[in-house]
Amino acid sequence: MVEAFKIAQVSEIVTGNCTGSENATTITQIAIDSRNLINPNSTLFVALKGAKFDGHDFIQELYKLGVRNFLVMRTFTIDKSLNAAFVQVQDTHQGLQQLATYQRKLFLGKVIGITGSNGKTIVKEWLGQVLSQHYSVVKSPKSYNSQVGVPLSVFGINSSYQVAILEAGISRPEEMEKLERIIQPNVGIFTNIGTAHEEGFENLDKKIAEKSQLFAGSDLIIYRKEHQEIHNHLRNMFPESRLLSWSEEVGADYLLKEKITPNGAKILFVKADSGMFTFQVPFSDMASLENIRHVIAASTVLGMAPHQIQEGISHLQAVDMRLTVKAGIRGCTLIDDTYNNDVAGLRLALDFMATQRPKKRKVLILSDLMQVGDSAKAYEEVGHLIKHFGIDRLIGVGTAIQQLADRFVSSSRYYQSTAELLLNLNEEQFDNDLVLITGARKFGFEVLVNQMQQRIHGTTLEINLNALTHNYNFYKSRLNPSTKVMVMVKAFAYGGGASEIANHVQHLQADYLAVAYTDEGVALREAGIHLPIMVLNPVQESFHLLQIHQLEPVVYSPSFFQQLGLYCQSQNNEMLVHLDLDTGMHRLGFEENHIQEVTDLIQEFPQLIIQSMYTHLVGADEEALGDFSLVQLELFKEMAFRIQEKLTYKPLLHALNSAGIIRFPDHQFDMVRLGIGLYGVEPSKLFSHQLKSISTLKTTISQIKTIKKGDTIGYGRKGKMAIEGRIATIAIGYADGYDRRFSNGIGKVLINRQEAKVIGNVCMDMTMVDITDLDAVEGDEVTIYGEGISLDDLAHSIGTISYELLTNISSRVKRVYYLD
Ligand SMILES: *Cc1c(COP(=O)(O)O)cnc(C)c1O
Repeated sequence: MVEAFKIAQVSEIVTGNCTGSENATTITQIAIDSRNLINPNSTLFVALKGAKFDGHDFIQELYKLGVRNFLVMRTFTIDKSLNAAFVQVQDTHQGLQQLATYQRKLFLGKVIGITGSNGKTIVKEWLGQVLSQHYSVVKSPKSYNSQVGVPLSVFGINSSYQVAILEAGISRPEEMEKLERIIQPNVGIFTNIGTAHEEGFENLDKKIAEKSQLFAGSDLIIYRKEHQEIHNHLRNMFPESRLLSWSEEVGADYLLKEKITPNGAKILFVKADSGMFTFQVPFSDMASLENIRHVIAASTVLGMAPHQIQEGISHLQAVDMRLTVKAGIRGCTLIDDTYNNDVAGLRLALDFMATQRPKKRKVLILSDLMQVGDSAKAYEEVGHLIKHFGIDRLIGVGTAIQQLADRFVSSSRYYQSTAELLLNLNEEQFDNDLVLITGARKFGFEVLVNQMQQRIHGTTLEINLNALTHNYNFYKSRLNPSTKVMVMVKAFAYGGGASEIANHVQHLQADYLAVAYTDEGVALREAGIHLPIMVLNPVQESFHLLQIHQLEPVVYSPSFFQQLGLYCQSQNNEMLVHLDLDTGMHRLGFEENHIQEVTDLIQEFPQLIIQSMYTHLVGADEEALGDFSLVQLELFKEMAFRIQEKLTYKPLLHALNSAGIIRFPDHQFDMVRLGIGLYGVEPSKLFSHQLKSISTLKTTISQIKTIKKGDTIGYGRKGKMAIEGRIATIAIGYADGYDRRFSNGIGKVLINRQEAKVIGNVCMDMTMVDITDLDAVEGDEVTIYGEGISLDDLAHSIGTISYELLTNISSRVKRVYYLD
């Protein structure tokens, strides 16, 4: 949406030649792509010409769609009656930029322009999220930072916004000048600078000079003082009053000192003129810590108070990372960084590697660096990095990289090409290693990653941890910043794998975990999970395990209270416990008439410290039970209050499960208990589209057969061929958790994106599906659920709920975790 103008104005702005009819339509959209037009009648189509496409070819089609205004480079002879207008210019590219410049000038809010070698997009995204605590913010879409992307971003800004954040990326000299004319940032951010020569610049100084042209008219330029070359350049070019530097050390305008903690990092912020503030951030890798400090500096400059910024940071949604972690062959973990070719990027990747769980060796597979001018110097730097990050083995691919041979002391080997490495991959004897694969695009390392990735036959459950993060953040965004989150990882984390998921949410800084049984808690402790863990259904036999592993049992009846109290007395030990208050579920829990007894027991056994009190809603997901839920919540408050009265300390209170978080935001109390929502199912169905499915259950086709008309399939002759056709036997059965109720046409699976129905009865380890009408060969992948086939629909088709399908997946099904 742009500030409306008429075709005659367009003609004036681009100094073009207007032909065709003087139509009266008002232009509110500018498009360069004939697909996805929103409002053709009020769109101005700009016909760009590229190497492989020519926008002019689409004009006929666009006219049919209702577009009436065109910016073109050719003459069009058109029928006056057609009511279309053409503005002709020499260069529509330039025209597009002129229109953007015009639109930019109409915007009266603040514009923030970001440039630099790395982190632009993340800084933009995070800054956008933090500023939106206080301002209405618009930002350029994902990677719209180019000569065409920037104008299109500008067309997305209108007067309803207060702040616009735009990213500028250049690959050639003289491009920034054009972007500067369009963006005209009030505040600039220079994130950092990579090594010389990449991105096609003669030397580092030229590159910095070129990039900093973005700030020609900025009131303030934010940068990190440790980037010495940037500091020097900016100081020479701009008056002191327009620079705002931050640094890890005193001596800059802002001191932003980092301190790594077990769950992320703290950032101490000191401004020259005022007090201090300590920010808490959920990550500890170098790149993120730099990016977030740019965000803190910029938000401060825009007038946000530290506590507002902190609130924004607590709500940060994970921005897709370029680096991905994958399970590799022979127990290896792969870090895939296949499209990187500069030293700065390598440094970030190595730093990321350092934050991963250690394995046997650290192996680096690295290609030649591209466009490295003074290559000896660049490789010297690489050699230092390799030493600094303690790489155990280097595998070099290419010719230039071989100059590292005499510099790099420990084990290394060099190959001329990726193909040569692939031929010798077996000799590398990978075994439980952490392998960073980083190389320039031209080396085609994706083939290497593909070869080295773990391939699993048969049935697997793939868990997408980024989707899990997304879901977690979605629920976080609906909570008050101070509300704690307990993640329910009972029942093998709803089938997803308890220790991996617990580890991941521990990383996301969840506050608590809950399991059903003591054994599940013990397993988590053994996997190194240190978050507090509540055990819903402990038994007397496990008291000593609770104690040894610092697990916190739920106490749900007076007799259980007494047993546990006596045990702790005999051990002369305290234990943190949680009280389950039954307000209507009638499963476990103290009832209203137990309160007196409970308070007496609390006095009698001070060894049991009441860490929290909670209740569970019976129908949080059902609109029809809304009133009942409110009754439960009221009763809970009343019961909790009566117990609280007798205590000298304050236990946490909590009541809401996933559906409750959505429906009863006013009853968050101190904590919520997040279960199925984290796993991608929104039980109240109000926000289903906002969650991502985290798991995909897959198997493969073992055999394909052609079966005659009238023949039967499987046990009991239940499946019958109506015509001659083909069936596929797939490697999943009810013992894997593929419910027998899917037999005989009820169940559907996806093969090469086509639906196939179950034919006959589901067997213990196998199932037959009818593939008469579809393309498939033996070995093809079969999706049981995941993208294209929803868990909810499947559950519905056999009259159950997604909870049951998720938790039924057998433990023999291999779980594979990935970050996409
Ligand atoms: C399982 C469970 C939850 C989580 O419920 P979801 O519907 O999966 O969010 C919360 N509280 C208790 C006591 C539970 O047993």
